[in-house]
Amino acid sequence: MVSDKMLQLGRHSSVIRDIFEYGNQRRKEIGAENVFDFSLGNPSVPAPDFVREELENLLVNTPAEVLHAYTSAAGDSGVRLAIADYIRNNFGYPAESKHIYMTVGAAASLTVTLNAIVENGDEVIAFAPYFPEYKVFAETAGAKFITVNSEPETFQIDAKALYNAINVNTKAVIVNSPNNPTGVVLTEDSIKRLADILDRRSAEFGHPIFLICDEPYRELAFGNAIVPYVPLYYKNTIVCYSFSKSLSLPGERIGYIYVASQMEEADMVFDAVCGAGRALGFVCAPAMFQLLVKRCLGKTVDISIYNRNRTLLFDSLSSYGFSAVYPDGAFYLFLKSPVADSYAFCEKAKDYELLLVPADDFGCPGYVRIAYCVGTEQIERSLPAFAKLASYYFGGDK
Ligand code: PLP
Repeated sequence: MVSDKMLQLGRHSSVIRDIFEYGNQRRKEIGAENVFDFSLGNPSVPAPDFVREELENLLVNTPAEVLHAYTSAAGDSGVRLAIADYIRNNFGYPAESKHIYMTVGAAASLTVTLNAIVENGDEVIAFAPYFPEYKVFAETAGAKFITVNSEPETFQIDAKALYNAINVNTKAVIVNSPNNPTGVVLTEDSIKRLADILDRRSAEFGHPIFLICDEPYRELAFGNAIVPYVPLYYKNTIVCYSFSKSLSLPGERIGYIYVASQMEEADMVFDAVCGAGRALGFVCAPAMFQLLVKRCLGKTVDISIYNRNRTLLFDSLSSYGFSAVYPDGAFYLFLKSPVADSYAFCEKAKDYELLLVPADDFGCPGYVRIAYCVGTEQIERSLPAFAKLASYYFGGDK
């Protein structure tokens, strides 16, 4: 009666959602202040005041027939021009607005991109750990989803493993930096090695291998971390961008696809993006929020709060004996489970009202993800619980 594939996708909710629902139940039972929910990557820093001010300006000063009207399928031309200007001025890359397609966030950017490029028999590679929706998006577009483990410890790209995974069927590689779930930022060196492998393998197999850069966390980089602009290093790059995290606007669903203008056949690839947008019904992203982001380009939420959370959590958990990947960006801490079974570890953490996510669904068993996009006071209140959890595993209380 219905598509079995879609039925399974609709019915199989993610582990993250299950934990979040469990948290809702516990909040009712023992009070929100006693539950330490680190499950969802939902930004806690509110959208900045300038977002509200610009929105109010738009509402007051834009005629309704513009504010609520269809834009062209790829987006408002003024908005696309402004984004291309921004890329040129900020990253020094010769972007052209004709290669920008406005979308309803990174999820849509990814699924439109994959549908634009995948043909029967193609393979799409992602590095584990990876955002679990990649598998759904790639397989729904008709690709075989292949994973390559990242380097242990650093979670940078394992160049040799990538080289070996690429074959004549490889159509694209997805990278995500700053990364969900590790918080790792790919170094310039990693990007250069990646570009070199893709150039060599593309030449060897006689067709371009696309590099899809999923970048919702681009601006969330701390300290001296630099997030290289990948089109400068590899010409066949497609950037999937979102304003969900940089402006704390996840519910407004706004982002874009940028087909790097120096790509071979950039116009043709962009036309395929338009075709996929059309086929999937992702045309004309919300007009009001297209106009809003144009006014906010280059501005971000106050990331000092995430930076404070990161330091507090990393330093405290390390001092209790836990081992975690040092996060340079995004708002996730990737913690090594003290036991091989990360589900068992997360179950034990629940005894202390700590809600953590096992990384098995991210393709990385043995680790858990802690989303620290929460109020700093939640982290402060949770530390005694983490200390007790550590003492259970490391302190001989087991
Ligand atoms: N990609 C990654 C790595 C994410 O973490 C998320 C959301 O958390 C998305 C894509 C989807 O972002 P959006 O809300 O812009 O669709």
